Amino acid sequence: SVKITLQDLDRRHGPYYLTVKRGIEVVRLDSWVKDRCQDLDRPLSDSVRVRFFADARELGRHDLVGFYPVVWFRLVTPRDNDTWKFTDLRDDTDGRLDTPFADEMTRCIETGSTVGQLRKLVAQHMDIHDSNRIIIIARDGARVGSLQGDMWELRQIRSWFCRWVSIDVSPPRSYVVLDGPWGQYLFHPSKEYQANGVVVRDVKMWMEMCLLRDVDRLHNSKLRLKWSHITLTSRGGRLSNFSPISPGAKVGFELPWYLEDVLAAEESWLLHVSETCTVCTDDKRPTELPVQIASGCKHKPTTCRECLGQWIHSSLDTSTWDRLKCPECPELLEFNDVRRYAPKHDFDRYDALATRAALKSIPNFRWCLSTSCESGQIHDPTCRKFKCIACKAKHCVYHDMPWHSRETCEEYDHRNRRRRKDEKASEDMIKKTTKVCPECKKPVHKWSGCNHITCVCGHEWCYICLAPYRRNQHGFLYCRHNAGCSETDPFADIVDPE
Ligand SMILES: [Zn+2]
Ligand SMILES: [Zn+2]
Ligand SMILES: [Zn+2]
Ligand SMILES: [Zn+2]
Ligand SMILES: [Zn+2]
Ligand SMILES: [Zn+2]
Repeated sequence: SVKITLQDLDRRHGPYYLTVKRGIEVVRLDSWVKDRCQDLDRPLSDSVRVRFFADARELGRHDLVGFYPVVWFRLVTPRDNDTWKFTDLRDDTDGRLDTPFADEMTRCIETGSTVGQLRKLVAQHMDIHDSNRIIIIARDGARVGSLQGDMWELRQIRSWFCRWVSIDVSPPRSYVVLDGPWGQYLFHPSKEYQANGVVVRDVKMWMEMCLLRDVDRLHNSKLRLKWSHITLTSRGGRLSNFSPISPGAKVGFELPWYLEDVLAAEESWLLHVSETCTVCTDDKRPTELPVQIASGCKHKPTTCRECLGQWIHSSLDTSTWDRLKCPECPELLEFNDVRRYAPKHDFDRYDALATRAALKSIPNFRWCLSTSCESGQIHDPTCRKFKCIACKAKHCVYHDMPWHSRETCEEYDHRNRRRRKDEKASEDMIKKTTKVCPECKKPVHKWSGCNHITCVCGHEWCYICLAPYRRNQHGFLYCRHNAGCSETDPFADIVDPE
């Protein structure tokens, strides 16, 4: 069985935490939810249906509940037509928007407008000069609350099952513009903040709690962000946690690269395709381009992450690991740049090369000699016995070979000198007793016996003077030995008169 959370998209009931069997179907939750959601004095009408959602889609009756840690539900009446609903929150109560304007907002959203564009439309309609004062709020769905990203495409929030959007207006200049890696976000502080003034830490905490939380489409964020990870900057300088931020100010924000990459992946679906990669010429979302390629680059990247990964992959084949460059300028890629943008396999290769180079420069560093072992360690140079901490193999540092057990280096040398002497003697012996067949050049050993050699190649010859044995036309075998040979063949002149 598995634990699941049942959450009401309209926030009127629950949440409910329950343990279900892994194989249970969605249809089994239907009456359970209805039972929980009706008041004793006001039972639910029979026409009310329960719809279930997870992973950005509506679940079918036979989908298995156990796959989703969070299952969303919504009670719907037959009159519910699933259209956008807008309210005006300016007086802290939901006021109606006049129909022509609500229709215009629907059109605006359905044609792909961003939050920033909707802010402008609303500001214009309300005759407000500064559109940053407009607050757009999701009232239902998986992520309720302010929609802070100006570059977010509004119709996408249907994946959060949101269909009720409210608008509110903050007092003049009571906001902070956060300039992020691929667009800007608006922080509208609550009334308490507005009275006391906002410091940098307040903004960071708000970013942790509200802004960067749950921007992923499936509501299953992997972004483990603490406010202390965030850096706020103004005109290139870091802001300290307690420096005040003046109302209406614009500050930059930065995250450590590994968190920025998680955020890029999770926020990507909310962004317009607005960039073009100059390498693959594909249209890309801003999150699909690197924020910066090499730490020293002075330009805005126009190569997408995928192409940059390809570039590093092929650069590793054509240049040395420490001369990898930005594809767009001569800046060298540093370790963290490669770690960030190289495909995993290429980074591992790069990392091994960089590590080897770094270790080589450490005095007394030695690699384990075992062929199957990649480990190395600092070794005391006065000790000849190296014991690998990884594979436990022992090596002789003096002889550069596996450790000669039960022998000191001197004993080992002594035994070897003797062995080499013996080997040398037998080599000389072999040389003395070996001759090469004059026909096929194979060595032939002759330890004893007749000097008439019949080689494996079929050639017959005299072992002493190398003269060949021949047959005359009658098949008679003879050898005409060379001068000085101890063998003689008295018949040679008779059977083969020259
Ligand atoms: Zn590309
Ligand atoms: Zn560059
Ligand atoms: Zn080893
Ligand atoms: Zn040794
Ligand atoms: Zn031969
Ligand atoms: Zn001979």
